[in-house]
Amino acid sequence: MTHKIAVLAGDGIGQEIVPEAVNVLKALEKTDGLRFEFEEAPVGGTAYDQTGHPLPEATLKLAKAADSVLLGAVGGPKWEPLDYSVRPERALLGLRAELGLFANIRPAKVYEALVEASTLKREVISGVDVVVVRELTGGIYFGQPRGVSVENGQRIGRNTAVYSESEIRRIAKVAFEIARKRGKSLCSVDKANVLEVTELWRTVVTETHKDYSDVKLSHMYVDNAAMQLIRNPRQFDVIVTSNLFGDVLSDEAAMLTGSIGMLPSASLNDQNKGMFEPIHGSAPDIAGKNLANPIATILSMAMMLSYTFGEMKAAKRIEDAVNAVLTKGLRTGDIWTEGCSKIGTKEMGAAIVGEIINSPGCATPS
Ligand code: NAD
Repeated sequence: MTHKIAVLAGDGIGQEIVPEAVNVLKALEKTDGLRFEFEEAPVGGTAYDQTGHPLPEATLKLAKAADSVLLGAVGGPKWEPLDYSVRPERALLGLRAELGLFANIRPAKVYEALVEASTLKREVISGVDVVVVRELTGGIYFGQPRGVSVENGQRIGRNTAVYSESEIRRIAKVAFEIARKRGKSLCSVDKANVLEVTELWRTVVTETHKDYSDVKLSHMYVDNAAMQLIRNPRQFDVIVTSNLFGDVLSDEAAMLTGSIGMLPSASLNDQNKGMFEPIHGSAPDIAGKNLANPIATILSMAMMLSYTFGEMKAAKRIEDAVNAVLTKGLRTGDIWTEGCSKIGTKEMGAAIVGEIINSPGCATPS
């Protein structure tokens, strides 16, 4: 079976890291007998320059027709003066909405070889392996009414947090399924002591738990969760939370690992089809210099293989290869420490491909 992948490199370092991720999938064609069909299309500022729109119709059509979407990054100073309606970042919102990507999954794993790259102490972060599942298409970012109006002679700003029980149930199911395949522990984060919408959240997550009794469920208020992530992050396996709380907590969890260049993400719809991308942006300060770390994008391919295609063995091969190059002391600038070898984007991609091709148990190493 051939998996069709829409390749949307986007802007800045997206143009450099995405080819390395594609090379990794091509290596897996050789080693694991997988078959991919890649089709590229412009997105973000690059697409605006070519077509006048950050998400051209043809790009959206390709993304919808594909089995999965690989996205690099969008944005950059060149496009900042543009009107909001055509800013590169609008392409992300458009893709999420059009593909129905309601579940954002962000693992934050601390690699032993990179423990020193974190700002936190070794004893706090060594062994951290947490996944944050964030609801992506509901909550206060989308609720109505919203806006700024003038009432009784003064300006009033307003946003509305809304969740239906079906929205809560579907994200809870995604999180329980992930927890079931990992450490069987799910922490649902809310603010049920003051917000009715999250009181419903807690109720529906608890109801959904009845179908997942093998998973341990706990609840935590968001302020406590923010503290606990820094105090004792190893207590978490999977965290599920709303759009707003997830936005903040997933960035906090990401920073436990010390480098933005290491962190993959997946955004899934109800058929587990999704968009896979690094959590970082287009890094205009280092773009075009072979300095970007491609590992976040390469690890996003491991997520694509396991979440969308069910190719667990191939996904593990990518993760093992990343671990192996780090253990050998190979580093891009963002994760470099004294005594390690500093290499560029292309060299890091090639090293990971080399590990995959030469890893034990490959069907047809070449
Ligand atoms: P950024 O993530 O692009 O960069 C922040 C810092 O991290 C920079 O110093 C950068 O050099 C470094 N960095 C990021 N990725 C790296 C990598 N793979 N390897 C090494 N270093 C890396 O965030 P920013 O500077 O705030 O934003 C730049 C542009 O990206 C903006 O236009 C922003 O809107 C956009 N952006 C896009 C996305 C996305 O496409 N999903 C996400 C965030 C920001």
